Amino acid sequence: MLAFAGVRFCRSVCPYAMLQNVLFDGNTLTIAYDRDRDASCLRCDLCVARCPAGIDVRNGAQRECIACAECIDACRSMTARRGIDPFIAYRGRILRGKAALAGAAPAAAGLAFAAFLALRPGVAFDAHWEEKIGNSGANRYGYAVRNGTGNPMTLRLGIEGGATLMGDREITVPPRSRRAGKLLAKRPGGAANRVVLVASGPGFAVKKEVTFP
Ligand code: SF4
Ligand code: SF4
Repeated sequence: MLAFAGVRFCRSVCPYAMLQNVLFDGNTLTIAYDRDRDASCLRCDLCVARCPAGIDVRNGAQRECIACAECIDACRSMTARRGIDPFIAYRGRILRGKAALAGAAPAAAGLAFAAFLALRPGVAFDAHWEEKIGNSGANRYGYAVRNGTGNPMTLRLGIEGGATLMGDREITVPPRSRRAGKLLAKRPGGAANRVVLVASGPGFAVKKEVTFP
């Protein structure tokens, strides 16, 4: 798309160009025409002919400028023959407080996101009710555990809410993989409406509330 749109992309879609409207001030580094020497300009119009954005830099700073510096080279090719400096040159400074502040905000957001990724739990646990087992007072559940860490993880499955789990309650999940299985839970007192299934490991417990009809 970029190849097809060419400079039209820079002028209409590019978010960097739009950001310039916010960051621009009197010290912004720009490509500018020296108005003080306007009387000496050769009026060759080569700067306009070479500009890929189709603008006349002699009319001042324009939003469409993509700072390609073609106009500087064009002007230099004409003025060098006469031993004078080009009428178009870079003006302003690269390092400015406003630009530094604008750069610091996304950098801080990036660091916060990286910290979030580093600190988030490496284990996800999900469970859902499947069926009631006749009149036995037991219910069957399906569960899945995802180990997002780079190490094997041994988890203990438990239940809260007055019910007890039957069968194997300890599972080991290989690094960066998922294990799914079934759980059978029974409650001596019959229906409990809701219970909480728990997958716990070293220093953490992930809970999932499920129905117990
Ligand atoms: S820097 Fe490039 S886009 Fe900007 S005025 Fe000069 S030639 Fe045109
Ligand atoms: S290329 Fe330089 S000398 Fe020629 S018109 Fe543009 S500013 Fe003037």
